[in-house]
Amino acid sequence: MEHIVIIGNGISGVTIARHIRKLSEHKITIISAETDYFFSRTALMYVYMGHMKFEHTQPYENWFWKKNRIDLKKGFVQTVNHKANELIFSDGEKMNYDKLILAVGSKPNKFGWPGQDLEGVQGLYSKQDLDKLEQNAPNNKVCKRAVIGGGGLIGIELAEMLLSRNIPVTFLIGENSFWDVVLPDGESDMINRHIRNHHIDLRLGLNLKEILSDENGRARAIVVAETGEEIPCDLVGLTPGVSPNISFLKDSGIDLGRGIKVNRFLETNIKDVYAIGDCAEQTVPIGNRRPIEAVWYTGRMMGETLAQTICGNRIEYKPGIWFNSAKFLDIEYQTYGWVHGKVGRPDYEAHFHWKHPDDTKCITIAYHRETREFLGINTFGIRMHHDVFNSWLTKKNDVDYVIDHLAEANFDPEFFRKYETHIRNEFSIQSLTTS
Ligand SMILES: Cc1cc2nc3c(=O)[nH]c(=O)nc-3n(C[C@H](O)[C@H](O)[C@H](O)COP(=O)(O)OP(=O)(O)OC[C@H]3O[C@@H](n4cnc5c(N)ncnc54)[C@H](O)[C@@H]3O)c2cc1C
Repeated sequence: MEHIVIIGNGISGVTIARHIRKLSEHKITIISAETDYFFSRTALMYVYMGHMKFEHTQPYENWFWKKNRIDLKKGFVQTVNHKANELIFSDGEKMNYDKLILAVGSKPNKFGWPGQDLEGVQGLYSKQDLDKLEQNAPNNKVCKRAVIGGGGLIGIELAEMLLSRNIPVTFLIGENSFWDVVLPDGESDMINRHIRNHHIDLRLGLNLKEILSDENGRARAIVVAETGEEIPCDLVGLTPGVSPNISFLKDSGIDLGRGIKVNRFLETNIKDVYAIGDCAEQTVPIGNRRPIEAVWYTGRMMGETLAQTICGNRIEYKPGIWFNSAKFLDIEYQTYGWVHGKVGRPDYEAHFHWKHPDDTKCITIAYHRETREFLGINTFGIRMHHDVFNSWLTKKNDVDYVIDHLAEANFDPEFFRKYETHIRNEFSIQSLTTS
């Protein structure tokens, strides 16, 4: 019986463990330095906001693991010695494996700002970060103002969390518009207005220079790089994105780039060592998908795929058409296929943008300027059916077909009946000017 050891009890590690158990009798151990049991990282915000208790973020009862013969081990792996198939923990304990799966996730970026390690300065990634936030910002008496440095999805989540406790927030974003590296202008502008409508002090085009300390080593203010302004605060949230959590592997002999390099079978350069989830970096391009995708469902897909390989049915990771969803305060966002913001937008990619008069709903459709092939769609405040877009993108339907059938993709046909004529008219006008 082989011993399969998985480092990481996040969605990717737990998915592979469950699937290996369904397919085999292998001995399985999951190691984590973070928590005893798997929890949903995406639900952390709702714990702080009081919508659920931490226990409710754990999808499986505590007895599930024993019943399914999945051993759980709490500890931090400091060294991987692949020559001896051995792991060494930070307390010196050792563990042997036959096959090793690295599912070690991400860590929040830090860019060496002076003061970044002061008390009251933190990221938002782990259960420990949630506990810290509870201490740093229990209410608006202890935390009279928070400054968040770095836009993107985690920054806006943190802002929403703090607002739920009436803590004033200054949101410092280096870009000139929210998440404009990813979102086209019309969408990014709409989200800027939405953020400000929530009384968040949004400062665009400004960066953090340093964090100032009080006499007890706690953050008391930040300094803005461009203006020198000092903004007093009790909490500094650092949310400038995440990177693969791989520093403990640097001398391991496992090939590393930004993440752990894997082939289409999720195999590393070392026999019997694999990587999945946020930490995996694809070295063989998969269509036009990014080499590292730090999202929930791809971790799950990689876990399902690699379980097959580990159990004797060696298959490639095939994630299909890119999609994702998120929430910007009250506005839900969905994306299918590719709609580029200002980074990486090819010349042939034309956009059709339609915005609802209430300024909380919009659609951007990307298509090929010459062939008119439908390339992708972003929707804000309008919920769409995944399957429909998956099928249109797979079949390479043209944009005219998509506009004609948009109502079929919408969860709320009433909405489309009301706005269909307007959307079609807008599309005719805009396609004349972009063609
Ligand atoms: C606040 C927040 C909100 C998010 N919201 C969304 C969302 O809405 N939608 C979405 O798709 N994605 C979202 N994400 C991203 C998503 O949560 C991640 O893509 C996903 O959790 C990654 O899963 P993983 O299994 O790869 O790694 P992780 O969940 O990071 O798990 C890795 C585990 O490995 C442990 N570990 C690492 N190194 C070691 C070691 N040496 N020894 C022992 N243990 C180790 C870590 O402590 C951690 O517990 C969000 C992330 C955050 C932080």
